[in-house]
Amino acid sequence: MKPPRDPDLELRGKLIRSLGLLREMLPGSFVERQRACGRPTCHCADGKRLHRQYQISLLLDGKPQALNIPAKRVEEVRAKIEMRRRFEAAAATICSVNLKRFLQEKLQEKEKEKEDRQI
Ligand SMILES: [Zn+2]
Repeated sequence: MKPPRDPDLELRGKLIRSLGLLREMLPGSFVERQRACGRPTCHCADGKRLHRQYQISLLLDGKPQALNIPAKRVEEVRAKIEMRRRFEAAAATICSVNLKRFLQEKLQEKEKEKEDRQI
């Protein structure tokens, strides 16, 4: 006999199975900056047509850091940082499913103790 469907458990299972796809996730946030390179003959010297620079902003050993992303890896790194957000959202949902179950179990145990006392 199949156990009754539990939408919470189905959701939790689905999320757990999706986590493998997020294994390449990266920490930090994706930052786009504009800067002048400092070469007087460069187009950026007018202060308007600045260079675009992409960075990962994160804490390393508790210190804020900005790591430059090579131009050809910008989209890949952006996607990997986004994976971290999805991972955290999945973890939060899994935790809330488990907390709900914990509270239900506690309530059921309490009810059971009450019944046992009445026998
Ligand atoms: Zn320049």
